[in-house]
Amino acid sequence: MTSVAYLNGEFLPLDEACVPVLDRGFLLGDGVYEVIPVYHGCLFRLQAHLERLEYSLHETRIANPHDRGTWQAILEDLVRRNGGGDRSVYLQITRGVAARDHAFPADTPPTVFAMSHPLPAPDPRIAREGVAAVTLEDIRWARCDIKTISLLGNVLLRQAAIDRGAQEAILVRDGEVTEGAASNVFIVDEEGHLLTPPKGPRLLPGITRDLVLELAEAHAIPHHERPFSEAALGRAREIWLTSSTKEILPVTRLNGEPVGDGRPGPLWRRMNDIYQAFKAALAP
Ligand code: PMP
Repeated sequence: MTSVAYLNGEFLPLDEACVPVLDRGFLLGDGVYEVIPVYHGCLFRLQAHLERLEYSLHETRIANPHDRGTWQAILEDLVRRNGGGDRSVYLQITRGVAARDHAFPADTPPTVFAMSHPLPAPDPRIAREGVAAVTLEDIRWARCDIKTISLLGNVLLRQAAIDRGAQEAILVRDGEVTEGAASNVFIVDEEGHLLTPPKGPRLLPGITRDLVLELAEAHAIPHHERPFSEAALGRAREIWLTSSTKEILPVTRLNGEPVGDGRPGPLWRRMNDIYQAFKAALAP
């Protein structure tokens, strides 16, 4: 059975949802998006996702078609119509349908689309073995803080990582680590401190990143938002990747070399337990 999608005010089967070819999302990548995890039928960290959505819309000067209450009602309805449980919600807003021109069209309503898919439980092999990553030059634009659907740089980088036998690319700009192709990056440095690069135009302000920092603070785990170099990444005891759908992934191989002893590290285990307990506490 096909899942239920939302398009411009209507719920309909996903495989019947269509947008015109003149949609600026299709022609120009002119749009923004969010991916929100759902646990036990509840949208996780929804307010933070809506706040980031408002920021992306503001920075791209796309009119926000709804207030927070309406967004929440639409997305909760979508989750309910798809049967609740553990899933992800994808929400995309484009500048709408208009004759192709780079300049903004006048009086064109944005296109609003959302869909939802089941979120599989984390693969137990990850806790045993971790994942492999490679470092690559960050070839993307200068506004990576906007969650835009223009993802060609990210797409090419992720595929380059896969072509090298890794799951993720860790990106480096001017010698400093920025983020992953679709994740934020943490390291545990030689003193055992948790580091992640500070927010700014070079990286997406990840919702999972913020939650990991919040949980580190609550559990007195030393942590800093501080730039670090590719060399520091190479010396790290542990490397983690965070995202809403993958949660916290331990990187155990970097550019073909083991990270630490080549197995998920003790601080990752602790933080992952804290994170899972935090999620479980939300169960109705
Ligand atoms: N950076 C990039 C480039 C991403 O695409 C993502 C997630 N899609 C993240 C970071 C992680 O953000 P979040 O924790 O909000 O999913």
